[in-house]
Amino acid sequence: MSASGFPALPGEALARALRRWGLDLQRGVPLARFTTARIGGPADGLVIVEEVEALADVVRAAWADGLPVTVLGGGSNVLIADRGVRGLVVLNRTRPLRFEADGRVWAASGVLLPTLARLCAERGWGGLEWAIGVPGTVGGAVVGNAGAHGGDIAGCLEAVTLLLPEGEVATWPADRLALGYRTSRLKTWPTTPRPVVLAASFLLRPADPERLWERMAAFSAYRRRTQPGGSSLGSMFRNPPGYHAGRLIEAAGLKGLRRGGIVVSALHANFFINEGNGTAAEVRALMAEVQRRVFERFGVLLEPEIELIGEWEDEAEDPGGCPVRGEIGGARGEPPLGPVGDPGAG
Ligand SMILES: Cc1cc2nc3c(=O)[nH]c(=O)nc-3n(C[C@H](O)[C@H](O)[C@H](O)COP(=O)(O)OP(=O)(O)OC[C@H]3O[C@@H](n4cnc5c(N)ncnc54)[C@H](O)[C@@H]3O)c2cc1C
Repeated sequence: MSASGFPALPGEALARALRRWGLDLQRGVPLARFTTARIGGPADGLVIVEEVEALADVVRAAWADGLPVTVLGGGSNVLIADRGVRGLVVLNRTRPLRFEADGRVWAASGVLLPTLARLCAERGWGGLEWAIGVPGTVGGAVVGNAGAHGGDIAGCLEAVTLLLPEGEVATWPADRLALGYRTSRLKTWPTTPRPVVLAASFLLRPADPERLWERMAAFSAYRRRTQPGGSSLGSMFRNPPGYHAGRLIEAAGLKGLRRGGIVVSALHANFFINEGNGTAAEVRALMAEVQRRVFERFGVLLEPEIELIGEWEDEAEDPGGCPVRGEIGGARGEPPLGPVGDPGAG
């Protein structure tokens, strides 16, 4: 046993798997550099995988050793604790991609979503243009049913190949994933470990590549106009039904609100920017303050869209970190702003 109470790293099975694939186990590597927010403490152990079979083998072996495993894609939807992550972090850089007959595209789960969108458009396959500005990997996008500009993963995913907690590899049709607004059965999996997405196949439709490029250029221009650059996690809170989280935060007068190195963007209030030296604790403090003030003003409880992972100081009391998760809409304060149309990207 290690000081953290987990089995020592690597256990026998993991050591064998690492040898089989010629992989290094790095210890105590700060994870900030693997996230878009540039925030996150050290992983007990970090392995970077580039082959789908290695991803399955390494995770299965770590599970067999009793180690907690966190699979990290682009790190664009996770807030990693300043204390870091116990057990093994597997950084998914599996990039193989195959175009098959009839608009079918098979992608390893580590393929970057914007790359996939671009390559499909080049070949005249439409349906993934919305993904051009969504950072992160296919695996993360499937887990969270990523979407933008009226499209989402649910609209084009045919099937996924999963490593199930029992260690088996299985292919599930998309409709078994219960894909919903930024969620899926994988994200809400009730027990640990959660399945790992190894690969996904998409079913696309033939389209004129020039039209696809035009659509993608328009989406990118829209993002540049409406979303801030810099280090962030994209949208921090889910849009409550019928409302736009960013507009509620803005209407509560919270643009520019700051905790340490983290600030509510002046351009898009649902984005928090890390100005360079921000911490995960500061992000959580800002989330809590924004939730409190929006609730007081409009009676709407904003629910986090991002996932908190790793070891938090107050884990025993409140693993969610932010004040509360719960029902949206309350009896307090002014009625929320009028309904909005398409919340757009992010
Ligand atoms: C600037 C910016 C703009 C954004 N805009 C959008 C947007 O328009 N629409 C949108 O939906 N999202 C948006 N996001 C959020 C984010 O890009 C998506 O949620 C993305 O799909 C996350 O993918 P990832 O690979 O980065 O996942 P990560 O952040 O690495 O992981 C997210 C979760 O998925 C799990 N996971 C990752 N890979 C796997 C796998 N292979 N198997 C099992 N579990 C896995 C992780 O353990 C974690 O729980 C934005 C983020 C940023 C920073």
